[in-house]
Formats: sequence, structure tokens, C-alpha cells
Amino acid sequence: MAGCAKQLIRAPKINVLNVIPAIPNHINSQKCSQNRCLSTQSTAPKNKGKYDIAIVGGGIVGMATARQLLLNHPELKLVTLEKEDRIAAHQSGHNSGVIHAGIYYTPGSLKAKLCVSGLKMAYEYCAKNNIPYKKCGKLVVATNEEENSRLGGLFERGLQNEVPDLKLIGPDEIKKIEPFCKGLRAIHSPITGIVDWGEVTVSYGTNFKKLGGEIMTNFEVSDFKMSQSDPDYPVTVIGAQPNQEIQCKYVLTCGGLQADRIAAKSGCNPEPKILPFRGDYLLLKPEAAKMINGNIYPVPNPNFPFLGIHFTPRMNGDVWLGPNAVLAFKREGYKLLDFNARDFVDAVSFRGLQKLVMRNMGYAFGELYRGFMFSATVKASQRFVPDIRVEHVTRGPSGVRAQALDRDGGLVDDFVFDSGEGELGSRMLHVRNSPSPAATASLAIGEMIAQEVKNKFLV
Ligand SMILES: Cc1cc2nc3c(=O)[nH]c(=O)nc-3n(C[C@H](O)[C@H](O)[C@H](O)COP(=O)(O)OP(=O)(O)OC[C@H]3O[C@@H](n4cnc5c(N)ncnc54)[C@H](O)[C@@H]3O)c2cc1C
Repeated sequence: MAGCAKQLIRAPKINVLNVIPAIPNHINSQKCSQNRCLSTQSTAPKNKGKYDIAIVGGGIVGMATARQLLLNHPELKLVTLEKEDRIAAHQSGHNSGVIHAGIYYTPGSLKAKLCVSGLKMAYEYCAKNNIPYKKCGKLVVATNEEENSRLGGLFERGLQNEVPDLKLIGPDEIKKIEPFCKGLRAIHSPITGIVDWGEVTVSYGTNFKKLGGEIMTNFEVSDFKMSQSDPDYPVTVIGAQPNQEIQCKYVLTCGGLQADRIAAKSGCNPEPKILPFRGDYLLLKPEAAKMINGNIYPVPNPNFPFLGIHFTPRMNGDVWLGPNAVLAFKREGYKLLDFNARDFVDAVSFRGLQKLVMRNMGYAFGELYRGFMFSATVKASQRFVPDIRVEHVTRGPSGVRAQALDRDGGLVDDFVFDSGEGELGSRMLHVRNSPSPAATASLAIGEMIAQEVKNKFLV
């Protein structure tokens, strides 16, 4: 822990504003299509291997921030280091593709603020850069009295978060918007949309390169060290391949499912721990896809950060149903039986997970069961779309969520940033928890982190 004695920056518990000013796909590991794959394969660094800032992680958070840093400081030499052969290889390329409106999140939290501002920025960015999106709207549907009373609270939350155009509607209006959907009452959010977040990430990357940034793929950061060889560039970032290294002044890490391990490599706290929660989707057959116009969600279980099994239209016309949330035995494992011994032991030996499982045994088994049995997922969705049947679905893709967990078994809800002390730690800034809606919020997160990088490193 030598390098990182500083406390985690977390909102709203700790006053994050002191440290970071609160400003204002598609399918598993698929082959990349022309417009959604940015693979540079670069092995020989352009800038003689010396950079002002190295950004670790070519997901949507890393790429949005890298781009924003160059927009703010065109004179800087920046490199993004990505361990895979392309950017958006993990969460950013394996998600529901929803442009969230910001209804769910605790008022005043970073998630709430950055989602609401990020949505507006995302629509503007997509329009300007010819990235297709659809403002197809969303219903959050209550199907019984208990859900109905929670729906009221959720609506109030949405209003407090200043989500535009929210309405509470009754059964007749539900039917007008979604003829096959049934409920007592629903929140209607017409501003909610869909987009391919993988394509958006690639666009940020292309933009970053146009601004003079460099992206090095196949560069898995395995260590950081201070070095004397050039006092202007004292941090050496070491790659997993022989002789693979670059030198820089500062490092920003946006490692998603590996965020805790990357932070620990720089001497920072390995907690909160990242736990991988796989989400499996079912794919609706065309005759059933016709029944769904926009996003249809249940009222979420307030004890969990996941939003429940929902219907999500995709940009290519498909409709997905899911995802569930099952502890994955491999951090980047997209198949039901994927297993990695290190990831497994790491997770099950963590006290926080043991406590979480003890408290939520029933929920955990329910989700696992849904992972294996289509019929259980379909049954959950029949509560609000009764005509959906098992024969309407086939197995779809999966995504793995990086969920931060503390040692008491608490799921860390908000975005978390962490930085350190000492020679190495004070030159690092880590994004430790960037779960949903981080894709929606990515441009706002990028602005916020770029501001923090300026305050911490450049002023
Ligand atoms: C199933 C699912 C559904 C979701 N739905 C939505 C949604 O509808 N809307 C929404 O807004 N958000 C959604 N999200 C959340 C959103 O996808 C994530 O919050 C966001 O993609 C996080 O981006 P990231 O850049 O932090 O992480 P990632 O995209 O995971 O990127 C991290 C990158 O770091 C790289 N990396 C890791 N270790 C190293 C290393 N040692 N060296 C170099 N590179 C490294 C990885 O290869 C990866 O490319 C969903 C997520 C999931 C999983």
C-alpha cells in the first residue's frame, strides 16, 4: 500500500467535490465490422515511447477521457494502452446499448448528475458524428401494488434528478405506447434511447487519433515503476510482452473488469474489489420482436444495482431480453461455463463476496437458474408482456459487468476514483468503479476526469 494511502474518492458519502469537481454490439467477441473496430496493432511507439500521460484501458471511459484531454490540451502527448487487439473489447462492446435518462440514481450522486448531462452530450455527439441512434423511449412498468408504490418513489427520484419529459401513465396509455405490454402504471421516459456503445467508443478513438493521440493495442500493462533514466518522464509502464514499455509523466487507469488489479500494481488499495457479474441475454425471434417498440423495464429490486430483466431493441432491429446477473467464474468470460482459476479463487476467497452471498442466497440462485433456463427469464418478462413465450426466444449474447464490492459485502453504487501518494502513487489516477450508466455518462465522465487531471497533474 506504499504508494496509495489516500482515501477512495466516492460520492456521495465522501465529499467528492473536494477532490473531483462534479461538473456540471453487439455480440460476444465478434469479429469487428468496418466502422466499429479500431485496432492499431502498433508495436513501435511514435513518440519515442515518451508521453505526458498514459491512459490504461481502451473502453468507453478511457477513450472519452483521452479525447477530452486532447481537446483541452492539444499540446500534450498522450497514449492509450489496451491489452486486447482492439478497443471496446469488453464492457463497452457488450452491453444493452441503452442511452439512459438518469431515473434510478441517488439524487446528488455522480451517477445521477453525469448520466443526465451525459445523455444530452451523447445525443449531440452522435448527431454530429453520424452515429445512428434511436430515441425510442422507455417504460418502467409496475405489475402489482407493491411495485406500484415503489414506482411512485422512482418517479420522484427521476424528477429530483431533473430527467426531462418524465410522465406517470396508466394502463390505457401503456397500451398506446406498447400494445403488448400490461401494467397497473408505468413511468414513461420518451428521451431514453438506444445506440451501439461499441461504435461510439471507436468513434472517440478515431477522434483521439485525429487530435494526435496514439493507441497501442496488444499492450497489457503488467507493472509500473519509477525510473531515473529520464527525469522528465519518471514513470515506466511495463507491458506483458518482452521489452514492451513506455515512459510517461502521469498515468490514468480505466481498467473496467481489471480496475482493482491495475490499481494494486501501482501500490494502491486493492479494494474495492471488482466482481464480475455476467448478464445473459435472450434474442427474440422476428415474430416476437415485432411486439416490442421501445425499452420495457420492470420496477427494479432496490437492494441491487441491476435493473432487472428488460426488453431492449437494438440498432440492427433485433430485440434482446435480459440480462440476468450471475457471478462469473472468469472476469472476461462470456460463456456460461467459462472458468479462470485465479479469478474464481480471488472472488470466492474475498470476505465481501461471502457476506454478500450469505445475505442474498435466494436472489443469487434465482439469477443462476435464469442463466440456465430460458423459461425462467421468459416467465419473469411475461409479467409485463404476457404474450411472450419460450418458443419466441433463442440464446443471445452476454456481457460481464465490473461491480465493485467492499469488504463488508456492500455493492459500491457510485462511480469511484482513487489516487495515491508517494512518488508513484501521486502520479496515478484510477477509475475504480464505472458501472452502468457509464457508457451514457462517458462524455460527462471524460470532462470531469480531464478537469481532475488538470488540477492534479498539470496546474
Ligand atoms: C451487460 C451490461 C449491460 C450494460 N448496459 C448499459 C447500458 O445500456 N447503458 C449504459 O450506459 N451502460 C451500460 N452498461 C455499462 C457500461 O457498458 C460500462 O459502464 C462501460 O462500458 C464501462 O467502460 P470502461 O471503459 O470503464 O470499461 P471497459 O469497457 O471494460 O474497458 C476497460 C478496458 O481496459 C482494458 N484493460 C484491462 N486491463 C488492462 C491492462 N492491464 N492493460 C491494458 N488494458 C487493460 C480492457 O481490455 C478493456 O478494454 C452495461 C454493462 C454491461 C456489462
